[in-house]
Amino acid sequence: MSTAQGRETPAVQAGAAEVEVAIVGAGLAGTSLAAVLGKAGRKVALVDPHLVHHDEFRAEKIGMKQMQVFEKLGLGPAIRPLVTPMTDIHVFRLGQFFRRERKWEFAFSYGALVNGMRQALPRQVPLTVGKVAEVSTGPDRQRLVLTDGSVIDARLLVVATGYGEAVRRAIGIERVEESKAHSLSIGFDLAITPQQCAYPALACYARNPADRVAYLSVFPIGDRMRGNMFAYRTVAEEWTRAFRENPQKMLCELMPEIARQCGNFAVAGAVEVRQVSLTTTRQHRRAGVVTIGDAFWTTCPTPGIGINRVVTDVDRLASTYIPQWLSTPGMDAEKICAFYDDPVKVATDKAGMRSSIYAKRITIETGLEWRLRRLRNNTARQLVILGRKMRDREELPAPSAA
Ligand SMILES: Cc1cc2nc3c(=O)[nH]c(=O)nc-3n(C[C@H](O)[C@H](O)[C@H](O)COP(=O)(O)OP(=O)(O)OC[C@H]3O[C@@H](n4cnc5c(N)ncnc54)[C@H](O)[C@@H]3O)c2cc1C
Repeated sequence: MSTAQGRETPAVQAGAAEVEVAIVGAGLAGTSLAAVLGKAGRKVALVDPHLVHHDEFRAEKIGMKQMQVFEKLGLGPAIRPLVTPMTDIHVFRLGQFFRRERKWEFAFSYGALVNGMRQALPRQVPLTVGKVAEVSTGPDRQRLVLTDGSVIDARLLVVATGYGEAVRRAIGIERVEESKAHSLSIGFDLAITPQQCAYPALACYARNPADRVAYLSVFPIGDRMRGNMFAYRTVAEEWTRAFRENPQKMLCELMPEIARQCGNFAVAGAVEVRQVSLTTTRQHRRAGVVTIGDAFWTTCPTPGIGINRVVTDVDRLASTYIPQWLSTPGMDAEKICAFYDDPVKVATDKAGMRSSIYAKRITIETGLEWRLRRLRNNTARQLVILGRKMRDREELPAPSAA
């Protein structure tokens, strides 16, 4: 067995905690996988440097498809109390009301969701709070040494460390930047309650490509009304500094058509800004170790597909590959590659990357092809808006003859 540094490791060290699966990183991916494997009676170790996941701005909404996967995996009872469901989203395009989307979405604070799921972990899967000091992987056993000297020995190592680089780097897995500083996600609370908002939830797309803004989504999380805006800008830009300083003024200028419905965009508390790059992975096809969620690829929050990739990884691994892999001796690279080549996983990751790139190009590209595409899309939308206005007019009661 060879270490990341090329050293030989003993098969199993005395005093080591022996498990079937060691998961490093207890974010949404790692915690979900640990919970599902634990419920299935697997011996699992879950390691994260923090007992409590800090309240960072990350995904704040999922759709029905992702919720159904959580339900299928048996995680519904843990997740349902942590989310705010909604079914009625008013969509604004081209400065006007476009349509009502009657679909289920579920909103949450990411930190609260991950912490709630950690609390719902089966008793036999405790969270080990610690940092990995040394890692060695190979076709039979994987070995983690934590900074307090404790050792975890596993048949399979799952790397679910999100943006964290240390463990990936120690193993030799490289991150490849596909689109640096691809987009900006901006999160804030509105100073109104859900009851004071004119709509249960809404999405408003920017009109002008020069604004470099995709859309603003406004939705309830518990008793707060939350705003998520996605822009193709960088943290260093003057625009971003100005937005942080006076979000209300800039939101009113960008989307006057929904300002009144949103309490004139008075913002409560801090504006959170996160820059996201699109990344893929190299040198990940190796024995003994599998990389999932954001530790494998990062896509853009704008089309909202990160959690879809997380649940797909967890589902494919927990339902198919890990039971298969553990049922036969060894953990060679061929076994691991079956997961990376899984058609459902490959299609989900590729669709995520494609939609991340498309969403940016259709919003801001100025070349002829993209201007024509926008013209085609917007003409179709104008027709929808016009058709609705005509129907509304026809349905008006006739004026009385008095
Ligand atoms: C601003 C923003 C908005 C987003 N919005 C959406 C959205 O609307 N819809 C959507 O679907 N997706 C969205 N995403 C993407 C989504 O949040 C991620 O895809 C998802 O949270 C990834 O989960 P994960 O478990 O892979 O990573 P994480 O949740 O980042 O978990 C990684 C874990 O690893 C731990 N860790 C790190 N280093 C180590 C180490 N050395 N040892 C042990 N543990 C370690 C961390 O402490 C953390 O607990 C958004 C992302 C961002 C940044």
